Amino acid sequence: MPTTDAPIDRLLAQLDAVRGRGEGRWIARCPAHDDRTPSLAVAEAEDGVILVRCHAGCGAADVVAAAGMTLADLFPRRVRRGGRGPRRADARRLPRPSAAEMLAAVGGEAAVVALAASDLAAGRALGGDDYARVMRAAATLRRAADAAGRRQA
Ligand SMILES: [Zn+2]
Repeated sequence: MPTTDAPIDRLLAQLDAVRGRGEGRWIARCPAHDDRTPSLAVAEAEDGVILVRCHAGCGAADVVAAAGMTLADLFPRRVRRGGRGPRRADARRLPRPSAAEMLAAVGGEAAVVALAASDLAAGRALGGDDYARVMRAAATLRRAADAAGRRQA
């Protein structure tokens, strides 16, 4: 399998027993628990967002951490002007790195919320830890919005 810098390729490269399940869908061994029969479903949405769900109940954060990635990696980096990653020739430092970092953090928290929503849509209840994590994500997003408002002022 050719490996590119795309998050989906980086994730699949870390997983064992990866099998395609149709366009943009895979099943693999879950890296977060002792998985004998592949029980991790991986899907890439049209906008490039990656969804992971372990049928044994591992949290998405644990799954991506076991693969050496973070929840923010599940979201494509469109903050940089267009395309997948910067072109070397015109890669320039963003004028406001702290704003970019803020956006990266917001992307990670949005991933937490989106993954929880995907669990709920699939009929899975959120565990106590998951619920607390979503509430923390909501608080972080609100703080980021407040901070962005102060930058504008
Ligand atoms: Zn698992």
